[in-house]
Amino acid sequence: MTVVAIDDTDSRTKGMCTTYVGHQIAEDLKNKHNAQVERVLLVRLNPAAKHKTRGNAAIAVHTNANVETAFEVAKNNLDKYAVVDDDMTNPATVVTETIPDYLKEYTDRVMHELIEISEAEDIIEQDENIKSYYKGNGRGRIGCLAAIGAWKEFDDWTYENITYRFPEPRGTERDIDKESVVKAANQYHPKVWDTIDRTNGDTVCVPHTPCPILHGIRGDSKEATIAVGERIESEPVESSQVFMTNQGTDVHLQESTIDNVDENSAYKIPCVVSSVPETKEGGHVFFKVKGINSDTELTVAAFEPTKNFRDYVRNLRKGDSLTICGGIKDNTLKLEKFKINELNTTELQNPTCSDCGNSMSSMGANQGYRCNSCGDTKPSKIEVEIDRHLEKGWYEVPPCARRHISKPLIRMESDEKTHPMT
Ligand code: ZN
Repeated sequence: MTVVAIDDTDSRTKGMCTTYVGHQIAEDLKNKHNAQVERVLLVRLNPAAKHKTRGNAAIAVHTNANVETAFEVAKNNLDKYAVVDDDMTNPATVVTETIPDYLKEYTDRVMHELIEISEAEDIIEQDENIKSYYKGNGRGRIGCLAAIGAWKEFDDWTYENITYRFPEPRGTERDIDKESVVKAANQYHPKVWDTIDRTNGDTVCVPHTPCPILHGIRGDSKEATIAVGERIESEPVESSQVFMTNQGTDVHLQESTIDNVDENSAYKIPCVVSSVPETKEGGHVFFKVKGINSDTELTVAAFEPTKNFRDYVRNLRKGDSLTICGGIKDNTLKLEKFKINELNTTELQNPTCSDCGNSMSSMGANQGYRCNSCGDTKPSKIEVEIDRHLEKGWYEVPPCARRHISKPLIRMESDEKTHPMT
């Protein structure tokens, strides 16, 4: 099986999209070279990577075409579609006849670390079975190698059925009947997910960028993603492509502890809330956590775009035991989801007088409490049970704020209670 990978053909401003170039390569292999295309992978890479392109995606086409043919087709499409007058775009293609085992570990690292271009360069130079072509600084080769290794490294796969616009209307507002999107999304939920955001009223499947994508339907069933795509009423569509993808799988998260986190990586960390959540300017909510057996503190943020998710975060209290998930940037974990393991349900209050029932007053630091009416005294505060407006279990950001790679709670097999946002 020949694998053709491409990466970094996107442009934020000029409106191209790596998935579209991958789709064109697959079409050319089938239509012009009579080859079979077994599958097309859409591989999301480390979402916290510094140099990421929009969405940070690489593509791998699995085909029975020979390496030479596949390489020519990939080169031609890269020349035709990659936006090279954008300094941020550094497109590449890498083609190989087999998937080398050593790319398994490499792919795992690309998901969690920042890999240098020189490392990808060395791999390509040392393996005579790998062919590569690139423009700009060739950074795209990093993602290409990961897209090739992905098939061996990952075992959880989902689908995205992407529908493309004709060239003329690209850059203009998309003409889509929202009602048909909502109807189809509801009909096939939860086999498809993150199509719409029911709380915030968004059509999440429709991008707002100048790219060629009309809509992208994500889900666990290939058939369901196709059925939903077909039921959406819209402007004329040019073509569509179903990708197998690591979206919605949480492969970017590493289990870790609070003392072992690095910038630009994403983690799942057990911790205890150590400061009261505060809403700051712009509506962003911040709080601090400590490790289970560590006094190291980490700032956690739920930003404004996470909308109603912030209500759960604001209700957290000091002493709540959590598992938090998200990427680290500027010493702050950007919360994608969290699990409440234990709630702190008690509060220390001034004691009440045994005679009259009034709340007693402090007589000064460490001097106990006294009833102002009766003069009765007690030595210390008492622990009182309080109502919490939260339950144990998992909470997540709504679909409108979800990273492509984050696993929606409806996909999560967990013995814990989940509170999915759909
Ligand atoms: Zn009293």
